[in-house]
Amino acid sequence: MPANPSFENSKQVLDNGYVRLLDVMGDDSSPDSDARISTGIAARSEDQQTTLVRFLLRHKHTTPFEGTAIKFEVRAPIMVIREWFRHRTFSYNEESGRYKQLDPLYYAPNEERVSYQAKSNHQGSGDTHEEAAKFVVQWKDEQAAFEESYNELIQTHNVARELARLNMPVSHYSTFIVTGNLLNWFRFLQLRMDANAQFEIRVYADAIFEIAKQYFPRSFEAFSDYWLEAVSLSKREIDLLKQMMPSAIGQDAFTSAMPAPSPNFTKRESEEFRQKLIRMGLLA
Ligand SMILES: Cc1cc2nc3c(=O)[nH]c(=O)nc-3n(C[C@H](O)[C@H](O)[C@H](O)COP(=O)(O)OP(=O)(O)OC[C@H]3O[C@@H](n4cnc5c(N)ncnc54)[C@H](O)[C@@H]3O)c2cc1C
Repeated sequence: MPANPSFENSKQVLDNGYVRLLDVMGDDSSPDSDARISTGIAARSEDQQTTLVRFLLRHKHTTPFEGTAIKFEVRAPIMVIREWFRHRTFSYNEESGRYKQLDPLYYAPNEERVSYQAKSNHQGSGDTHEEAAKFVVQWKDEQAAFEESYNELIQTHNVARELARLNMPVSHYSTFIVTGNLLNWFRFLQLRMDANAQFEIRVYADAIFEIAKQYFPRSFEAFSDYWLEAVSLSKREIDLLKQMMPSAIGQDAFTSAMPAPSPNFTKRESEEFRQKLIRMGLLA
């Protein structure tokens, strides 16, 4: 399916980056129809498709989400690309600094983004730095100095492009193509939309999410409900929760809280919730 021109298919990200949808294979009915090969019975309605897709993601039956593909072109700082390429099950192609001189594009954060090292989170950022403005100027000067040297090595001295880039900073932008199925994207977004992900990759993940969900609204809604915004508790946390609850939830309170069954919360899901509460010792 080519990109739908009435959708928003590209977004600017950071100061010089972007994500741009190139192609989509499959549509929101693909996971449902692929899953139904096992029974040979096609869905009779949209509601049945919704119910099945939500069941599949809720129970991590993920292979039906692999029969799709979403392909993006992305321009991002090398430090973001380094994190992105750790997601090994995507397919990638990146522009080469051996074939051509790379565009003079660098990332410089906004002043508000320039932070002290976080005290408790060893990989994170803390409060905004008092001298942020000075450091932004410093980074830009360093980038300009590198660019001058890189350009001179190639243009004046004919140094091989593959070597001229030796001191290239990780703020330099590069462009790549990334293709993944819905499962690849769910895994990536789950990790990179999280508050623990570095801001500079999180904004790319947010942009991808906004574009991709237009093409697979039902699948992305299920992803948000069961993965992105769901919380899993350890045994220790369940024990602590039990200690904090004044009393177990009564059966009547449970029954009256349950919404009328719908494709977004089926009778089966309500029973699964009841079983979870019993397992956690929270339902009398
Ligand atoms: C906040 C954060 C901090 C991070 N910090 C670091 C860091 O300091 N250093 C670092 O190197 N990485 C770091 N990472 C990267 C992280 O360890 C993962 O490599 C990355 O998130 C990709 O996840 P993935 O392996 O699930 O994805 P993919 O590579 O796309 O793999 C998807 C799934 O395929 C399966 N799979 C893929 N390859 C294998 C394999 N070889 N063996 C078995 N199963 C496989 C796994 O089930 C995996 O979940 C960080 C990630 C995050 C989100």
